Amino acid sequence: VLYEENPEASRRSNVAGKVPLGVKGKSLRILVTGGAGFVGSHLVDRLIGRGDSVIVVDNFFTGRKENLVHHFGDPRFELIRHDVVEPILLEVDQIYHLACPASPVHYKFNPVKTIKTNVVGTLNMLGLAKRVGARFLLTSTSEVYGDPLQHPQVETYWGNVNPIGVRSCYDEGKRTAETLTMDYHRGLGIEVRIARIFNTYGPRMCIDDGRVVSNFVAQALRKEPLTVYGDGKQTRSFQYVSDLVEGLMRLMEGDHVGPFNLGNPGEFTMLELAEVVQETIDPNAKIEFRPNTEDDPHKRKPDISKAKQLLGWEPTVSLRKGLPLMVSDFRQRIFGEQKMGGA
Ligand code: NAD
Ligand code: UDP
Ligand code: UDP
Repeated sequence: VLYEENPEASRRSNVAGKVPLGVKGKSLRILVTGGAGFVGSHLVDRLIGRGDSVIVVDNFFTGRKENLVHHFGDPRFELIRHDVVEPILLEVDQIYHLACPASPVHYKFNPVKTIKTNVVGTLNMLGLAKRVGARFLLTSTSEVYGDPLQHPQVETYWGNVNPIGVRSCYDEGKRTAETLTMDYHRGLGIEVRIARIFNTYGPRMCIDDGRVVSNFVAQALRKEPLTVYGDGKQTRSFQYVSDLVEGLMRLMEGDHVGPFNLGNPGEFTMLELAEVVQETIDPNAKIEFRPNTEDDPHKRKPDISKAKQLLGWEPTVSLRKGLPLMVSDFRQRIFGEQKMGGA
């Protein structure tokens, strides 16, 4: 019996082969756009581990094959080099739409491309969801709140975003992506989910993406000073990647559209973060102050009551527990690369 023609048979053979079945005992076909990136690759690990078939679509702008290489050769895994700004035809049950540069350095590199990815890329993936009747999850961002005038941020807050600033390609791009998602839902009956992700860190982050956690960790390991922008009193909340992936999967499988804040409510100033990095890596690491970037939000902290109540979700990994896991990955990559380069 051919695999494609008889899904029941393939399900039975999964049981026989002791491959775990997907959620609710059913194996799903899942598209993860941006799956070669930091968050996407951890999500793929969980989905494959659960017994689903996964197609990753990624243009490798910031993603890397190394993040997925452990799945190569698995018949339930497929990697397609493709830019979501171009249409694509695939048959899937669910779409996790992550494709988009996420760090300020990367999204400012080509702002027009960032907008196209958010708008045209999201439109294409919604069109695909419509064509095949798939459920669609958008990974939006806490940046939709801009430089927030409400603290902590609740999902009902509409935000304070500069439409013409250097961060707008990302902030406004994601806001438009949310609008498109809701209009496909309301107008065309597409099943959608929206996550607003707050700053997330962990293994496989790009080492030189300019984000504060990757900068501080790489700097401390390389015995360089930690660069604190501005007075270092601005705040962020840092979520470990496994907590985020759990939240995304609960959101996809649950009955609620959202938007849902997914983040760790623990709030740190950048100076406090520098101290945690010093404690974890090198107590003698120096701190160097640099001028801050334009439009930098002063504070950010999620109110996660809605996700707690409706998804039964909350983060379980504190910064002090999660940071060492990222440090060992960075240590291996930074010093491994140097050895290879020097050989
Ligand atoms: P990442 O840069 O590691 O991953 C993004 C992936 O998308 C990369 O693999 C990249 O190559 C791919 N990509 C970019 N443009 C594409 C295009 N046009 N076509 C196909 N692929 C494309 O970033 P991440 O941290 O893993 O972020 C994943 C998603 O989560 C993004 O949508 C981001 O906006 C969102 N998010 C992340 C954070 C965070 O702190 N990490 C916070 C808020 C929102
Ligand atoms: N699209 C896609 N894959 C599909 C279906 C649609 O990439 O399987 C793209 C399509 O090319 C279009 C977008 O998604 O640019 C929106 O599609 P929709 O059918 O909603 O709108 P229309 O094509 O009618 O403008
Ligand atoms: N930041 C910093 N030093 C760095 C990189 C960033 O002090 O080396 C600050 C930055 O000004 C911002 C905060 O850290 O206030 C978070 O920046 P990041 O780029 O990580 O994320 P986002 O601004 O998107 O929340």
